[in-house]
Amino acid sequence: MIPSYTFNDTLKRFEPEEKKCSYCTQGHAQGCDSAYYAPIYKVESKTNIVIYRSVQYNKVLLGIPRCTSCAGIHKGTRVKTAVYVMAILVAITGLGYWLGDIGGAFAGFIIAGVAAGVGFITLESRLVEGNGILTLEDGARNNLIVKSFLTGGWSLTPPTA
Ligand SMILES: [Zn+2]
Repeated sequence: MIPSYTFNDTLKRFEPEEKKCSYCTQGHAQGCDSAYYAPIYKVESKTNIVIYRSVQYNKVLLGIPRCTSCAGIHKGTRVKTAVYVMAILVAITGLGYWLGDIGGAFAGFIIAGVAAGVGFITLESRLVEGNGILTLEDGARNNLIVKSFLTGGWSLTPPTA
């Protein structure tokens, strides 16, 4: 059975009617604003599912039911991760400067920058999981609404030309 939702034409998003949080086991969403809106893409120009036929967009936002507590954790963790990554970047750049002047600082900055780019997602996932809830991506992937859209020919990644 496909869970119900309402298409919001102004915001181009599917708002979930399901209230049970997809990220933790006990939370319930108060309204549709705390939901995580995952971008999904229409792979083919037409889909056979009648209820989606009126939607003409190539990309819409699909609401994953989320309680305010989980929404707060996701938001706070993104900020916290950014702070950690910045601190590490500054520390390694400083260490590079201390070890080898401006060239060392530059090398340290480049190395730390590359590591930060790779490590950001991993660090954020660990921090989110540390709170006992699912990450944005895992919750979306487990969601029945997302599954029904994926079965209907939509994709979580932009279609390649
Ligand atoms: Zn929750």
